[in-house]
Amino acid sequence: MKFSTSNVLDIPFIKATKKEVVTQLITDHKAGQNRFIVTANPEIVLAARKDQTYMQTIKTADYITADGIGIVKGTALLGNPVPERVTGFDLMCALLHHADLHHDRVFFLGTKPTILQQTIIHVHHQYPGVIIAGSHDGYFTSSEAAKIAAQIKAAHPSFVFVALGFPKQEMFIRQFRKQAPALWMGVGGSFDVLAGAVHRAPQSWQEHHVEWLYRLLQDPRRIGRMMALPHYLALILWRKFTSRQE
Ligand code: UDP
Repeated sequence: MKFSTSNVLDIPFIKATKKEVVTQLITDHKAGQNRFIVTANPEIVLAARKDQTYMQTIKTADYITADGIGIVKGTALLGNPVPERVTGFDLMCALLHHADLHHDRVFFLGTKPTILQQTIIHVHHQYPGVIIAGSHDGYFTSSEAAKIAAQIKAAHPSFVFVALGFPKQEMFIRQFRKQAPALWMGVGGSFDVLAGAVHRAPQSWQEHHVEWLYRLLQDPRRIGRMMALPHYLALILWRKFTSRQE
């Protein structure tokens, strides 16, 4: 199935619910397709506007989903709303659930070595049917990247979760995705959440669209990153205003 898209500052977000995306990804997986999924938030949109290589990289993805309320609201303001947010963490959990039931092979790349170990332990307990095809921490030099990609290839995974933060994770996937006919997805800080090192906002905070505030309270150093949001909103409003004049 091909989803229609909604453009936010030149990035085409698919108009699909989480359930529709998961169904599509499982169909792709069963067909042995090679897929690259980007879950993008406003920070990623702004980073891509500043860096054309990153923009081109993101645009090679098969699906770009709205990771966060900022994108959902942005599409609504621009008059072509996506139905809901579809986060990397939620997609990863849904795919792990599928892999648990079907004994699929999963590769985990990213985060610090100790947190990665805890992530693997958590997956063993929570999703015992998952076959952990391999894993590697996220702190490696660019000269080591090809060796890690070869390790991924040898592991024959169906799902490759890459938790290196942006833009590294998307750059890595673009460069190496052809090594394995798998679903490759950048998942940011999701391993830290799975491992219990970082807590996700309670459901009520998520429902009130203040997950970002919860993350800020947990890690006040994120304030610099959050300053991207007003800039993002200003650009959206500018785009809305100027497109009306055309
Ligand atoms: N990370 C990594 N290698 C690096 C830089 C970052 O593995 O060179 C990991 C980091 O340990 C963390 C994740 O990437 O687990 C990024 O988390 P962040 O909260 O910044 O991502 P977000 O979810 O906000 O995109």
